[in-house]
Amino acid sequence: MNKKRIMSGMRPTGSLHLGNYFGALENWVKLQNEYDCFFSIVDWHALTTGYEDNIDMKSNIFNIAADWISAGLDPEKCTIFIQSNIKEIAELHLLLSMIVPVSWLERCPTYKDQLVQLKEKNIATYGFLGYPNLMTSDILIHKADFVPVGEDQIPHIELSREITRRFNNLYGNTFPEPQPLLTKIKTLPGLDGRKMSKSYDNAIALSDKPEVILQKIKSMITDPQKIKKNDPGHPEICAVYSYHKIFSANEILEIKESCEKGEIGCVNCKKHLAENVIAYMKPMHEIRNKITENSDYIMDILTEGNKRARSAARETIIEVRDKMNLLELE
Ligand code: SF4
Repeated sequence: MNKKRIMSGMRPTGSLHLGNYFGALENWVKLQNEYDCFFSIVDWHALTTGYEDNIDMKSNIFNIAADWISAGLDPEKCTIFIQSNIKEIAELHLLLSMIVPVSWLERCPTYKDQLVQLKEKNIATYGFLGYPNLMTSDILIHKADFVPVGEDQIPHIELSREITRRFNNLYGNTFPEPQPLLTKIKTLPGLDGRKMSKSYDNAIALSDKPEVILQKIKSMITDPQKIKKNDPGHPEICAVYSYHKIFSANEILEIKESCEKGEIGCVNCKKHLAENVIAYMKPMHEIRNKITENSDYIMDILTEGNKRARSAARETIIEVRDKMNLLELE
């Protein structure tokens, strides 16, 4: 039986961190065993909000692919490709833009939200307004059945479903209505207890070497009332403890009790956490060392992924042009 298809993507805006891993990648690694997965490095999406930023997109694309593969994505099991290399997505975006009312895009919650949040950037652009349309094109060009999302992204998928229905009603049944695949994710705070983010400089990157991880964990903020080793601590307000919940799950009760009874000091508690994080990330580091030894390896994976993605996208765009009665000559 043919596997159901999944489509998802990430913007190449810099090195991925453990928050990204637990927020999406860990789940993708599982999904690749059950579904026909298309994972896109969405560089056009990065431009919708970052067209003025002076970022090295080319090396970011290379690095994100290295992050994905190190984290366990297997190019033999899934298709990894670069969004902007599949021009059929841009054509579908243009064609969908003919049928998508502007009011649908304007009422998208993220659109309004980001205009406020990113007010220092000039993103009141045609491209940014149309990004749900671009996202829909990413999904529809590969006729994906499912899109893995968290609760907060459900309105986006709802909009994609609405666009899909409009196309199917106007031109005949062409696309499956993409369904959200709700995923339970682990949330990991940043080293300072805030949301983990590159811009807060509070993240552990997937590419960080063991000595860097140790230094970063040493600098973590703990319970401010636990000054001396024997002071009783409050693990629930300590970021280190949040990390232990993930990386030291099998000894979590012991850690909680030792902290609360003042039997362990923060220095040793962090040291123990660093050992567990480094052990957890060891397989990622080993894969990264191997794949970055040969600089062609990642380029070959992306080239192969592009070929697969393009071939599927071509079939769809030919069907779409035909349904929309466009004449195509050599
Ligand atoms: Fe946090 Fe560990 Fe210190 Fe308790 S002992 S406050 S859990 S670092």
